[in-house]
Amino acid sequence: MELIEIKCESCGKEIYVYDSYVREQMYCTLRCLDSANKTDN
Ligand SMILES: [Zn+2]
Repeated sequence: MELIEIKCESCGKEIYVYDSYVREQMYCTLRCLDSANKTDN
């Protein structure tokens, strides 16, 4: 496993995730995930 740097889909903050755990959209906090879901229509 390898740690890679990606950016939060909501606020653009860098977050570090294991490469096997990366998904298409990643968020730094649950709040960012929540706000992204609310604006998704
Ligand atoms: Zn964020």
